[in-house]
Amino acid sequence: PKLEAIVHFAALKAVGESVEIPLDYYYNNLVSSINLLRAMIDYNIPNMVFSSSATVYGLPDKLPVTEDSPTKKANSPYGNTKQIIEEIIFDTINVNSNFKAISLRYFNPIGAHKTALIGELPQGVPLNLVPYVTQTAIGIRDHLRIFGNDYNTPDGTGVRDYINVVDLSRAHVDAIKRLLDNKSKSNYEIFNLGTGKGLSVMEIVKSFEKATGQKIKYKIYPRRPGDIDIVYADTSYSNRELGWKSEIPLEETLLSAWNWEKNIRKKS
Ligand code: UDP
Repeated sequence: PKLEAIVHFAALKAVGESVEIPLDYYYNNLVSSINLLRAMIDYNIPNMVFSSSATVYGLPDKLPVTEDSPTKKANSPYGNTKQIIEEIIFDTINVNSNFKAISLRYFNPIGAHKTALIGELPQGVPLNLVPYVTQTAIGIRDHLRIFGNDYNTPDGTGVRDYINVVDLSRAHVDAIKRLLDNKSKSNYEIFNLGTGKGLSVMEIVKSFEKATGQKIKYKIYPRRPGDIDIVYADTSYSNRELGWKSEIPLEETLLSAWNWEKNIRKKS
């Protein structure tokens, strides 16, 4: 059977790490995307769904960010790779009239499948917040390091838009259908995937404690290079055009992350 669409997920994905090892990020994320696009042209696979990121908005002037918000200078090499790949896809589509793509700009995907059978298992020390929280709760980490409490946010800790990963994955099905059913309004489209609500690191810790009954020990650390103070999505365009909406409540999402952590640490 002919391949009709590719979902391009593969990439290195940690903001802070990308500041430390920029060449690994540029090489891995850019070269793989170029190779994949070349293969799609060679084999005439006309549709792509690309995992983009809220980091393409840089330091936003206005909140929430809409898909029309300017992509300002990215705050990290990671964000820059996502900006550049979006441009590479756009330029490639421009000269291949039968090609279409949708970039899904992820905000902060968290949580696991409710069966606790599918989830994320970071190698080594987790770089993202929620896996660090669950590993702290289970005792693998001594305490959560909160990177900065002097941001320009209500409680001083960084604010992000945390989206359930199962909700996020549903949007990919919607995007593929849109491409295959020829519903796209242009050959290159962009959708924000978030909840529309900004939450601070401190609020995530408190919600996790409430959802799971686990107490999280934390200490305040300096800001992490590459981080910005606040970003959250305007999701009205995705809701309207893609027919997609975040559904799973935060506490259920955090509980799913905790159940997953417990399940993978169970002695067999
Ligand atoms: N964060 C933190 N401690 C950690 C990991 C993350 O305080 O161990 C903060 C980080 O500074 C940011 C938020 O949590 O404000 C989300 O970070 P994450 O790395 O999960 O996602 P990002 O927004 O960087 O893609």
